Amino acid sequence: MNRDRFPITQIAATVDALLGVPCHGGAAAPLSPVLSQAARSLTGPCDRLFLYNPDAIAQWIYAGHRPLFAPLEVRADLGLGMLSVYPPVTPACFASMYSGLPPAGHGIQAYVKPVLTVDTIFDDLPLAGRRAAIVSTEGDSISLIFQGRDVDYYILPTVERCNRQAMALIREDRHDLIVLYNGNYDHWMHRGGPETPWALRALRDNINTYCALHDAIRERWGARNAVLAFAPDHGCHRQYGFLGQHGIDDPSDMHIWHFWKFFPARQTQP
Ligand SMILES: [Zn+2]
Repeated sequence: MNRDRFPITQIAATVDALLGVPCHGGAAAPLSPVLSQAARSLTGPCDRLFLYNPDAIAQWIYAGHRPLFAPLEVRADLGLGMLSVYPPVTPACFASMYSGLPPAGHGIQAYVKPVLTVDTIFDDLPLAGRRAAIVSTEGDSISLIFQGRDVDYYILPTVERCNRQAMALIREDRHDLIVLYNGNYDHWMHRGGPETPWALRALRDNINTYCALHDAIRERWGARNAVLAFAPDHGCHRQYGFLGQHGIDDPSDMHIWHFWKFFPARQTQP
C-alpha cells in the first residue's frame, strides 16, 4: 500500500496521460502510481476512462466504515491517499482536479461557481479530437464551472437520472471520457452529520453505483482498455453534533481516498 499522499491537482494530467492527450501548460504532474499500474495492467493505450465523483466522502469515513466498502475494494486495483485543496469546497476542488491548478491558479477560492476561464481536461480532449461527457445534477458545481467546452453535457434533475444516463453512455460507447457527479452523500451529510443513517444510506448508494459502473464497463467495454476511478473531492466533519460541514484545513476535510480500476482489453469474438 502506498503511504504517500498526492494532491488532487495531479488528476488532470493523469487523465490526459492515460488517454494520450497533450496536457495544457501549468498543470501538476500526473500520478505516477496510476500510470505505472495502467502500463502493467492494460494491453495497450487506455481507450476509455470513467471518472466517478461522489461528493464529500472523507478518508475517515472510509476508515470507519470499511465493511461498507468491501464490494468496492474487490472492484479496485489501486487505492491512493489524496490531499484536497484549500478551501475544501466543491467548486474549488473540482476546478483543481480537472485544471491541475491550485485555487489561486484557477480563481475559485470560495463557494462560488463561475465558468472557469483556465484550461481543463474538457479543453484538452476536444483539442485532440477525443469526446468527453459530463453527467451531473442541475445547479451543482461540475454542471456549471466547466460549461462552454466542446463536450456533451447531460445536466439532469436527479442523481438517479444521472446514473441511468451514465449507464446508457457506457452501453453506447461513444465517449473517450465520462465524468459522473453524485452529490447525495454530501446532501445528507450536511443535513444531520456524516454518519447518520441517511448519510450512510447515501454512502452505500455511492458504493453501489461504483460497483454497477464497474460491472457495466467490464461487460460493455470488453474490447477496450478502460480505466475507472472513484474520486471524491474533499472530506467532511461533524458540526454542532447534529450537522455536517466541510471547508476547513483539517485532515477530516482535506484527506480523501481514491480508488482506481484497470480493465485490460479482452480479445473480441470473431
Ligand atoms: Zn463537495
